[in-house]
Amino acid sequence: MAKKKKASKQKAKKKVVKKAAPKKRAVFIAKKKPIVEKKLAAPAPVAEQKTADAEEGGASQKHSGLQALRGMKDILPKEDQYWYALLDHAIRLAQFYEFGWIQTPLLEDARLYVRSIGKGTDIVEKEMYVFEDRDLERVALRPEGTAGVVRAYIQHGMLNLPQPVKMWYFASMFRHERPQKGRYREHHQIGFEVFGDPSPSADAQLIAIAYTLLSDLGIPVEVRINSIGMPDERARYIVELTGYYRAKRSYLCEDCKKRLNRNPLRLLDCKEEGCKPLRDEAPQIVDWLSESSKKFFMELLEDLDELQVPYSLDPFLVRGLDYYSHTVFEFYTKEQDAETAQSALGGGGRYDLLVEQLGGRPTSAVGFGVGMERIVTELKKRPDEFAQKPPTVFLAHLGQGARRKALRLLQDLHAEGMRVGFNLAKTSLKAQLDIADKQKVIYTLILGQKEMMDGTIIVRDMESGAQEIVDVTKIVPFLKKKL
Ligand code: AMP
Repeated sequence: MAKKKKASKQKAKKKVVKKAAPKKRAVFIAKKKPIVEKKLAAPAPVAEQKTADAEEGGASQKHSGLQALRGMKDILPKEDQYWYALLDHAIRLAQFYEFGWIQTPLLEDARLYVRSIGKGTDIVEKEMYVFEDRDLERVALRPEGTAGVVRAYIQHGMLNLPQPVKMWYFASMFRHERPQKGRYREHHQIGFEVFGDPSPSADAQLIAIAYTLLSDLGIPVEVRINSIGMPDERARYIVELTGYYRAKRSYLCEDCKKRLNRNPLRLLDCKEEGCKPLRDEAPQIVDWLSESSKKFFMELLEDLDELQVPYSLDPFLVRGLDYYSHTVFEFYTKEQDAETAQSALGGGGRYDLLVEQLGGRPTSAVGFGVGMERIVTELKKRPDEFAQKPPTVFLAHLGQGARRKALRLLQDLHAEGMRVGFNLAKTSLKAQLDIADKQKVIYTLILGQKEMMDGTIIVRDMESGAQEIVDVTKIVPFLKKKL
């Protein structure tokens, strides 16, 4: 890899208007199906859902009622520890690197995405959920995070704040893709964006943040990186690339034949076996980069070396969205199986022209997004590391009056920062002690009618079975001393 890196390194030296023009609708409006047809198609999701359940290792049950939509998935409490760990790491990184949290609406004017992501892209052409709302506005469910953040940056005058402005988000994204392992119609991303920093160090720092996020969670990360230069450089390269592929048109898959006219760069990341060997011989964009683009890229690579973030240069990495310039990068796990080999954990790049394109002052910008479901799939391979610690104390109650007192005591123990197990729905002491046993707590506190009257509580040592009576007002210092 070092050799490859060195060789390539040497080589490398208006606003958001509100209403859609009716003519343009055809670009992104899916053909309307009669509602009856959709109703008839209802059994499909059940089968699909069963596969998804099985994939998750869960028992799928027979349902006669409504199901989540095809390609959409419930995230259940049984996996909350992975989501908490991921979000917790993201929040800590955001705070350390001074990124403010932003949450933009799930629905936006559809033209925001058509203008930013680009008409010829898969997302806009085939995957975006677009519909007319009750006011007959063309709206879209968010297919990716950056465009909305750029709109908000412009709308709220953040151009006038001291730059750089740094923001992060976690949000759900909607893409009407063919559901398969690791590919859903609703998924979640954590994204970090930096506005107003034109230096390659901003790119390097962002890559390092994503790298740290993933590797701190124990994922062996591979960073792939490339430069796609500025639009004029890219345009010249695309002419060359199109010429190369036209000569080999008959060997291309059907999708690539279409891409050849609409979005030739996308040919480079075609996953079809027949197309892959053609790519290896294809012209590389680095040969079309200007001196200043090469210099930018070189400086970024040097920053990454300084940050000790390992990377590999991928001359064919282009990303699927139109708005990138200069740097593009993606993150993969090194522990890939056949199914995940082509599935990035995340990606991003520089988008220096997008703010202006969406009606703002020219502002350089760079960002990344990582897919939360795909990261959680990686974390699930090491469940022990993410298992939540059970409480060390259980609070049992006996009788209705004691239950009320227990409610209050739980609140007080929580205020003292203690984690206490309980089950207010159970009435028998045996049932509650069984739960305490299962949770492997060290002490169970027992609050019965007598203790209530006396202002005391029983503390039972779960290992020895020994019990002592403690003044209830002293229970917190008592436990803190013991634990
Ligand atoms: P993209 O903007 O397409 O590069 O997406 C960023 C990241 O989001 C990807 O690298 C994936 O980890 C994740 N992702 C994208 N599309 C999906 C999907 N349909 N289902 C699950 N995760 C996705």
